[in-house]
Amino acid sequence: LAADERPPSERHVSTPLGTLDAQVAGTQHAFRTGLTQPLQWRREQLEALLRLLEERAGEFHAAMEADLGKSDVETHLTEVLAVKSEVKNALKNLSRWTRDRRTPVPFIVGTARAHVQPQPLGTVLIIGPWNYPFHLLLMPLIGALAAGNSVVLKPSELAPTVSQTVARLVPEYLDREAVQVVEGGVEVTTRLLEHRFDHIFYTGNGAVGSIVMAAAARHLTPVTLELGGKSPVWVDASADLAQTAESLVWGKFSNCGQTCVAPDYVLTTPALAEPLAAEIARVTTRAFGKNPRTAKNYGRIINERHTERLAGLLGSGIPVMGGTADAAARYVAPTVLIDVAPDSAIMKDEIFGPILPILAVGDHHEAIEFINERPKPLALYAFTERPEVREDLLQRTSSGGITFNTVMTQLAVSALPFGGVGASGMGRYHGEYSVATFSHERAVLRRLPGFEPARLAKAPISRGVRRIL
Ligand code: NAD
Repeated sequence: LAADERPPSERHVSTPLGTLDAQVAGTQHAFRTGLTQPLQWRREQLEALLRLLEERAGEFHAAMEADLGKSDVETHLTEVLAVKSEVKNALKNLSRWTRDRRTPVPFIVGTARAHVQPQPLGTVLIIGPWNYPFHLLLMPLIGALAAGNSVVLKPSELAPTVSQTVARLVPEYLDREAVQVVEGGVEVTTRLLEHRFDHIFYTGNGAVGSIVMAAAARHLTPVTLELGGKSPVWVDASADLAQTAESLVWGKFSNCGQTCVAPDYVLTTPALAEPLAAEIARVTTRAFGKNPRTAKNYGRIINERHTERLAGLLGSGIPVMGGTADAAARYVAPTVLIDVAPDSAIMKDEIFGPILPILAVGDHHEAIEFINERPKPLALYAFTERPEVREDLLQRTSSGGITFNTVMTQLAVSALPFGGVGASGMGRYHGEYSVATFSHERAVLRRLPGFEPARLAKAPISRGVRRIL
């Protein structure tokens, strides 16, 4: 096929391996010269990133439309605006987040001063995924720059237009030596992972996450792994059904369900399963019309392979709405399935598409058991007005985050850490947590002339002093 006839996800550019090696060496050199250390440099880079977002947003909108069929409104809200507000927040708090912190010194140490010095780690590698290809590459970049690191960015080859746009625009705005973009797929990433970085920040699936971690282990490089998995939802009779359905439709069908914190499946009581499914169908028709295929605000699946994978899951239950797919058009209808068995195909792996299975369990205790029998989720959602249910979920489950009576909005609160636990990842970022992720907190102690506890060892010690010691 001619290059322009191939589906977008097969059209990526690859940085030649020799160039890649030189780029890594260049970013490492930039760090060693001390270029990235001054707060002024970090501020200038963040301001330049903000200008890029303001002046060139149109190019990102076009790239997002080409790769994922994303509407302008969705790109604006979930990609451009989200990153812009994170940069503004970092600029506002930069000096506070990065300054030394005095700590008290215990009496036994004598006269001394101690503080924690946050230091940049060095050169960091950021590997992004395709589903929010712009957001998930630039959000960690903000923290890496704010902390004073040099950076190699590796966008996902499965969103090739975004990858090329990032590779073209980043050098126009940011320091060309300290921030470099490397493009390509498995071969390029494998080569990158042979280099010694000071931190690797990876977002994507767990299978590749363990490849990244194994490669990092060879150099004892620390990693942050932002992974996915199945994020469950509990709905009980105390919840407002209409509002629950609104949230689930938005969470499951925006970006066609290709969101790491999208609600994966719903657990509810047998009496609620059908009314909830009917309400979701009503809200979906209102949002995307009778034929979502022609709706401007309904996206497409990233490629044919993923569309076929999703089509294979449609038989896992009875469709209350949707239930159809067209691989060539990369289309999967917004679908709700009921009567889904816990061991059916759709309950094995993260769905990562617009199919919502609803499973019936006796009560929230059974739901908790169901959740705890499976890998720890990235997000856990519950729609309930019962405080005891909320408390049981908080005390008896573990997940990256837990959100009540809404979905996905936890990401907009930058004071909350974002990251997984267990199979859903390790490490966290956003806001001040990003700066901590890309910093080393060095312990600094300085003895001052004056009281010296060692002398006490030689002197006779009174009972009072001994008690204090
Ligand atoms: P992807 O296919 O774009 O892969 C992610 C990155 O890994 C890409 O840059 C790719 O080049 C690289 N890669 C792929 N195979 C590799 C290999 N063999 N060796 C080295 N590098 C390799 O994205 P994906 O993994 O399909 O993304 C979807 C997954 O990511 C889902 O599981 C989703 O839940 C998860 N995700 C998590 C978050 C989060 O913030 N926690 C966000 C988005 C997506």
